[in-house]
Amino acid sequence: MARTPLIAGNWKMNLNHLEAIALVQKIAFSLPEKYYAKVEVAVLPPFTAIRAVQNVIEGDKLQIKHGAQDVAPHDSGAYTGDISGPMLAKLGCQYVVVGHSERREYHEESDELINKKVKQAIKHGITPILCVGEKLDVREAAGHVAHCNDQLVADLKGLKAEQVAKVVIAYEPVWAIGTGKVATPADAQEVCGALRKQLEEKYGAEVAGSVRVLYGGSVKSGNISDLIAQPDVDGALVGGASLDGEEFTKLSAMA
Ligand code: PEP
Repeated sequence: MARTPLIAGNWKMNLNHLEAIALVQKIAFSLPEKYYAKVEVAVLPPFTAIRAVQNVIEGDKLQIKHGAQDVAPHDSGAYTGDISGPMLAKLGCQYVVVGHSERREYHEESDELINKKVKQAIKHGITPILCVGEKLDVREAAGHVAHCNDQLVADLKGLKAEQVAKVVIAYEPVWAIGTGKVATPADAQEVCGALRKQLEEKYGAEVAGSVRVLYGGSVKSGNISDLIAQPDVDGALVGGASLDGEEFTKLSAMA
């Protein structure tokens, strides 16, 4: 089954709303319309810049998609500081990152919580970009495939096949995030392929064939082509390089 590649820029805790407007305009200006027929491009600003980015995208009828970097596990209520699925949906978010390793590490997010967040996103019509990935010690002990599969199973627990079909998976080895140490195309393929196989075993070939599995970790214009040439790599979640409009546009055009 043909899967449209997705290049999603995770801006992390960078850019105020004015800087975010400038960046999304730069990307829109530099990436000619023709590319959107073959690649989907999304930006994931911090919460405080989503409204501004939405205004630019919707006001100028841009084909870039936008989303968020996290979602609360509840619809509403006394959860100070949290941002809910309905709030994100109202801001036109099509994607939300769930289970990023920085949230697993710095906010001690468990697979149980991540599973609730995945369900919240789906409930409110937002596509979760579910991140899984191993730390260096796990890879060195050759436990990476089992580790990522275990995260996948736990994070998708209780979902029906038709719900899983709506999820995007991102394989993000922790040792490659923000380090400049990119996984080899073969490393990326090994895990992305194993994740798809796991999806097939649990949810059937049709779902597994339609779900996009991204790679993330030090992706740049210099390495995207070889990564995306792998049969089970359907795009990239891009951190650092997504803050540079020229570089992000260049790598999106190469996908
Ligand atoms: C990320 O944080 O999702 C990421 C992939 O970061 P970087 O591209 O900077 O490694």
